[in-house]
Amino acid sequence: MEIARTIAEVRGFLAGERAAGKTVGLSPTMGALHDGHLSLVRRSDEENDCSVVSIFVNPTQFGPAEDLSKYPRNEAKDCDLLAAAGCDLVFLPSVEAMYPPDACTTVTVAGLTDGLCGTARPGHFAGVCTIVLKLFNIVQPNRAYFGLKDAQQYFVVRQLARDLDLPLQVRPVAIRREHDGLAMSSRNLRLTAKQRSEAPAINQGIRAAQHAYGQGERRPEVLVGLIREAVGRTSGVIDYVELVELPTMGPLSEISGPSLLAAAVFFGDVRLIDNAILGDPEGL
Ligand code: AMP
Repeated sequence: MEIARTIAEVRGFLAGERAAGKTVGLSPTMGALHDGHLSLVRRSDEENDCSVVSIFVNPTQFGPAEDLSKYPRNEAKDCDLLAAAGCDLVFLPSVEAMYPPDACTTVTVAGLTDGLCGTARPGHFAGVCTIVLKLFNIVQPNRAYFGLKDAQQYFVVRQLARDLDLPLQVRPVAIRREHDGLAMSSRNLRLTAKQRSEAPAINQGIRAAQHAYGQGERRPEVLVGLIREAVGRTSGVIDYVELVELPTMGPLSEISGPSLLAAAVFFGDVRLIDNAILGDPEGL
């Protein structure tokens, strides 16, 4: 596995790969890697000749009061995991390499970013879209992999790729979970033992809602209420629990097609998210 720290090194390595006719898959991450990230890399490895992973804790997607400085980092361990998962090139840029002081362009996607994490984290998706478009331009992948743990991010990036006619496929990857159902997240490392034992309540609530949906329940407030109830039994503080229409992410008063049941919950200052798609996502 090659390690690149500059844009020029990435371009140099990939020029050789492309000249050899190889296809390229990209999985953007912020590091502190776990099996959720590695499932993206394994998919990329299956579907492409060359798999690239970027590790960059992107400052522009964090709000001023958020956990940028506390975000876990572990470069050496990440590189070991990536080499074992089939990664060919890891891109580890500095903040200065990605954001020269004179940079003044921001990429925004309207509409889809209004609700959920867009409301809770103003500016977050502009930071995501800007860094993702930069990574797409640097790597020029044939396929890019995004986890459905961040379902809104997946739909936003997919829209960005469509709207700007980017010549690549944006591929969704299923959520990987711990044995107790907690969605894998780099932020889980920051939970205390008590918080870690309580955090699976988010997924328990989501599963209760999925079960109720399977039994025919269609009232959004009842489905949302099941998650609120499960989290309410813990020290978790709800940021949002919402049911939105897919793929627009718009508010929904009645379920008519596929929808996204999504939750964000604070345990102390650690903000965790989880979700489930209700209904048939085929054709989204
Ligand atoms: P992050 O490092 O949190 O920015 O995540 C990088 C990528 O990994 C994003 O596309 C995430 O959606 C994806 N990802 C993170 N956690 C999981 C998980 N538990 N299951 C599947 N994908 C994940």
